[in-house]
Amino acid sequence: MNAGEIFSKCKITFTERQYPGDENIVHCTYDKKYGGEFDGPCRECTEVVEVFTGKPKFGNKHNWMLGSEFGLASITPQAFFYYLPSAIEMVLHGLDRTGSVAETLEFRFRGLDSEEWQNSHIGGLTDSELDCVKAYFDYQFQNGEFLHVEDDYETILKTIAKYRGGAS
Ligand SMILES: [Zn+2]
Repeated sequence: MNAGEIFSKCKITFTERQYPGDENIVHCTYDKKYGGEFDGPCRECTEVVEVFTGKPKFGNKHNWMLGSEFGLASITPQAFFYYLPSAIEMVLHGLDRTGSVAETLEFRFRGLDSEEWQNSHIGGLTDSELDCVKAYFDYQFQNGEFLHVEDDYETILKTIAKYRGGAS
């Protein structure tokens, strides 16, 4: 599959993922609402909410995620399911010139987050969504600019295989 074909597949596969709502982009653990001690989210979470709020799932014209790509780690699972195709699209369309979004995606799927994070975020993806993610990483490893280390690629494939068949 070429980049265009991969993205067309993602577009169909992720089509039913709904925008989680402005309130559900981040659930900051410092916020009283989520068991913390403060009225409202911390500064980092506030920034992520500002960057991610209302952004499109498809049809990105610019790399809006750049500078807040770490936000993919702190957003809720529902927001992750919604914004994952966005991140993939940015990379496939060459909008991620520095490779920072590609790196973040790689980091998430190399399983370097906590197991709890992986279970809720990666584990919540359907098999066909995981197939799209795999097609994206296959492409990155074979033709892309940003994934060159074979061990990292193998680890990513293991993470995807681990969660296939287990999604709700
Ligand atoms: Zn926070």
